[in-house]
Amino acid sequence: MNETEEVLSPEYVAGLLDATGRVQFNIHSQTDNKFTVRPSLRIRTYESTARRDVLGMFLDSQSYDSTRFVDGDYSISYFLLDQHSELQQLEEYLAGHSAQLANELAFVTSLSDNQFGGQLLTAEDVYQLLITRDELRHGWRPRGRNHTTPQDFSDEYDVRPSKVDSLPLPDGRCRSGYSEKWFAGLFDGICRYRASIAQTDEVRIGYTMYPIARMHLTGVSKQLVDYALDYCESTGIDYGSSSTRHDFQVYFTAHQNVRKIIETLLPHSIVLRQHSELMLESILPRFEEGVHTTKTGFYELLCDCLYVGDRTGGPFRKREYNPSYFEEIWSDEFSLQENRDEDTKTRQRTDPFPREDFDPVQVEPELYEDIGRYQTVLDRVRRDREIVNELKGLYDDKCQVCGTTLLRNDGTRYSEVHHIVPLGEPHSGPDKRSNMLVLCPNHHTDFDNGVVSVSPESLELEHTHTSALSDRQLAVDSDHHISTELLRYHNEKIVGEQ
Ligand SMILES: [Zn+2]
Repeated sequence: MNETEEVLSPEYVAGLLDATGRVQFNIHSQTDNKFTVRPSLRIRTYESTARRDVLGMFLDSQSYDSTRFVDGDYSISYFLLDQHSELQQLEEYLAGHSAQLANELAFVTSLSDNQFGGQLLTAEDVYQLLITRDELRHGWRPRGRNHTTPQDFSDEYDVRPSKVDSLPLPDGRCRSGYSEKWFAGLFDGICRYRASIAQTDEVRIGYTMYPIARMHLTGVSKQLVDYALDYCESTGIDYGSSSTRHDFQVYFTAHQNVRKIIETLLPHSIVLRQHSELMLESILPRFEEGVHTTKTGFYELLCDCLYVGDRTGGPFRKREYNPSYFEEIWSDEFSLQENRDEDTKTRQRTDPFPREDFDPVQVEPELYEDIGRYQTVLDRVRRDREIVNELKGLYDDKCQVCGTTLLRNDGTRYSEVHHIVPLGEPHSGPDKRSNMLVLCPNHHTDFDNGVVSVSPESLELEHTHTSALSDRQLAVDSDHHISTELLRYHNEKIVGEQ
């Protein structure tokens, strides 16, 4: 058994391909109302490098010659398999594991003798293929420019639908019921992490945000949907689902549900492993702590959610609430946009979410080619959390400005950690103790809003609008060195520009 086989089990691969692979028929009109049809399997990466790497690794491990990675129009990247022997081989590999694709492949490969490629077909024959294909998916079908519906076809070529019956369907070689590994593959194939944002008067910053794990499938069979929903039921985790004739969605919202589904699937996860760890180690803890209830925290968390979201890919939709939106509306009180060089500014305005360019080349199936990058972020985040917790402990969660300690409902203490120079662009503050303050939420907001300054020498505090802090000093523990340089930056760049 080689390394790839150890990592990728047929059950996991089946879930992954059920989510990403669809059989399609490329119809070409020839002379005298005759057609050729070339079936192929199209496997989409949903614009995720990690997904592309894992799919590429699997396809290479099976030694498929016709594996191609295409940078199509509209920046859609996919693998294409169109050799009969390879589709047959894949059907055998997936038989008993997949919930949809094995049947589609069995149907296509059963056409080999007379209909597969090359042969001239009549309009009725083509129509028959199309209605059978839709029947295989129980009427569910993908939308889009590459899809010819039976209706489109019969209208264009004058087929009389009543005269044509569908072809016999293949015997079920699909799995019966879900399994955790299969679901993990399905989840890895289509899930995308996102932040959902809504405007509200109920919180002081005017916007709420919560994390979502969303699976969005198009053109899937009823069977596949049933198994996916059965799995969700079996986990006992709250989920939502919706479906139309074209697609099917399952989503987990609120941090506790997102956390549970990720923790449940992580042992089997390959494509999303790195992103899932970032969710567990960094993003969800910050939602749980309420970091998103301050403007700086909200903004930083939004940027981090987008970092993970964009790398988990999925269908792209224009986002109303993106970082530039908040930079705009909070620009008076919020200095994130300042200091950004003109070049970046213009680019962000016109294209806030540039897609990574996909090279139209053969995939080098190195698992996680950018593992180093994820690891760096993950290490940074882990280190940051450790320091944060340690520092809160040092002050017993007491605000360094006013000395207040807040209690949660369960009696445990609550405090927030402020970065004197914000971590994100354009400030790029360090993730060190010397850049951190333990504060109550009010003073955290005051620091974010740049209405409190601290004398770097005497540590005396000054509030822009009230005298409440006059004669007060920042309380600093002897084990906590605060950088005077960073305080100076805060006074100049964050207080000074308000
Ligand atoms: Zn305070």
